Amino acid sequence: MPVDNTHPPVAVVTGAARGIGLAIAQWFLAHGHRVALLDRDAATLDTAVTTLGHGDAVLALHCDVSDPAQVESAAQAVQARFGRVDALVNNAGVAIFKPVQQTSFAEWREVMGTNLDGAFLCSQAFGALMSKEQGGAIVNIASISALRASTLRVAYGTSKAALVHLTKQLAVEFGNAGIRVNTVCPGPVETEMAKLVHSVAIRSDYYDAIPLGRYGTVEEIAEAVGFLCSAQAAFVNGQFLAVDGGFDAAGVGLP
Ligand code: NAD
Repeated sequence: MPVDNTHPPVAVVTGAARGIGLAIAQWFLAHGHRVALLDRDAATLDTAVTTLGHGDAVLALHCDVSDPAQVESAAQAVQARFGRVDALVNNAGVAIFKPVQQTSFAEWREVMGTNLDGAFLCSQAFGALMSKEQGGAIVNIASISALRASTLRVAYGTSKAALVHLTKQLAVEFGNAGIRVNTVCPGPVETEMAKLVHSVAIRSDYYDAIPLGRYGTVEEIAEAVGFLCSAQAAFVNGQFLAVDGGFDAAGVGLP
């Protein structure tokens, strides 16, 4: 399909079936975008499409972002349906909280495969489509676990720290194509992932460690992502924004 600039901009959000990704998709729809949702959980993705509404402005693609062939097919499907890509949010993530001696190589690879390989593959595939448009914005969703080490996050924290550096690499490489690349580092946010890995003890320590004394909401993360994709952030490139209630500023350790 030829590119038609009279149509609204297009955002691609990975891991968009639930949680932070779904809120980001909602933000883009509320701000006049068409949205492609990528997720490996087909059933939850179907529910998300129903929740979102917006008819033809939404394209749901069953895709495991750690698989190069699936990412390539998704990019082709987005190009065929919408003809352009203006924003990419690499949000898909998995968390395994274990110390190094209890982390199997398979678990290490699972975390790296989604959190790091997925962002690399999607940036490559969708970045190529953005280059055709001479512009766009990529936001990588890392974590405050990228900024602090802890006994439980050898795989997760390392993957997110690498994602912060991938952001800088891509910001430098893509800058001359008019594509900006930034990172959002959320603090703890109430989602299914948090239910899975935040024990009662971790939760309690977070409440003490965060100056605002609470978890963030998915909408608060989506607002920060939306800002970084918007014209208001037109000169922001290669940066990370911690959306964490002051956790990083407090300089305390991760629970
Ligand atoms: P979530 O588990 O609720 O949702 C993640 C979504 O990603 C799910 O729909 C899942 O199916 C999808 N997904 C996972 N692996 C995938 C893959 N390989 N391919 C395609 N889809 C995949 O998680 P969330 O809390 O909404 O987290 C979203 C992002 O925010 C993640 O990158 C996470 O690391 C990051 N983050 C979350 C928190 C938090 O406290 N919730 C804090 C900091 C950072």
